[in-house]
Amino acid sequence: MHIIFLGPPGSGKGTQSDLIVEKYNIPHISTGDMFRAAVSEGTSAGKEAQKYMKAGHLVPDAVTIAIVKERLSKDDCKKGCLLDGFPRTIAQAKALDEICQELGHPIQLVINLVVDEKALLPRIEGRRLCKVCGATYHLTNNPPKVAGVCDKCGGELYQRNDDNAKSVHTRMQAYYSQTSPLIDYYSCRGICKNIDALRSIEEVFKDIDKILRKL
Ligand code: ADP
Ligand code: ADP
Ligand code: ZN
Repeated sequence: MHIIFLGPPGSGKGTQSDLIVEKYNIPHISTGDMFRAAVSEGTSAGKEAQKYMKAGHLVPDAVTIAIVKERLSKDDCKKGCLLDGFPRTIAQAKALDEICQELGHPIQLVINLVVDEKALLPRIEGRRLCKVCGATYHLTNNPPKVAGVCDKCGGELYQRNDDNAKSVHTRMQAYYSQTSPLIDYYSCRGICKNIDALRSIEEVFKDIDKILRKL
């Protein structure tokens, strides 16, 4: 099961990925999470990525492709994996095709989360993450049982420093100019499924689960 999630920032890729991972037990590969971990560890990739992430720009393809290639080569990805936030450019998609060919497991499915642009900023501004396990919450749409505390592990919740209106505007522009062409790139192969992601988290997951059960 090798799957890609497409969709603008805030469309619900991370949230749906967590639900899929819980049920199907495949690794969740989020380039955003990997970069945030690299930044907090202070690695050279992290230092390079931080300059771009703060402003909402995409990290250069060469840096991004290198970290994904390394991750996909690990044994736990043999049975499948879920790519969330990668690829985000045509150059990344072409590099991924090459990596998949080398490793011998093609992309089977691309799930494209379709959301009205107006819904995105309120989702992103209300987003909170667990410092310890990375679980995603929303202040009103998906609040934790106790404010500021993760239901799963008791960790403290925080707001990403790029989840503000200015950075979101730049990220949306990057999405529409550089990432949305990937919808056609994968639709041409007949592997892209559009999902109406304006509905509740549970309804969206039900549709995705139906597709996954048939894979
Ligand atoms: P969101 O889904 O809210 O945009 P992510 O966590 O996926 O956030 O990404 C956060 C930031 O990390 C992006 O704004 C970008 O700077 C960087 N990033 C993540 N994935 C990629 C990628 N595939 N290519 C380039 N930059 C990326
Ligand atoms: P992405 O990974 O695509 O950037 P997230 O999964 O982090 O998006 O979701 C962004 C925010 O919106 C989070 O706070 C999340 O709890 C909330 N959210 C996710 N899916 C839905 C949904 N279907 N309806 C309402 N809010 C949602
Ligand atoms: Zn947690």
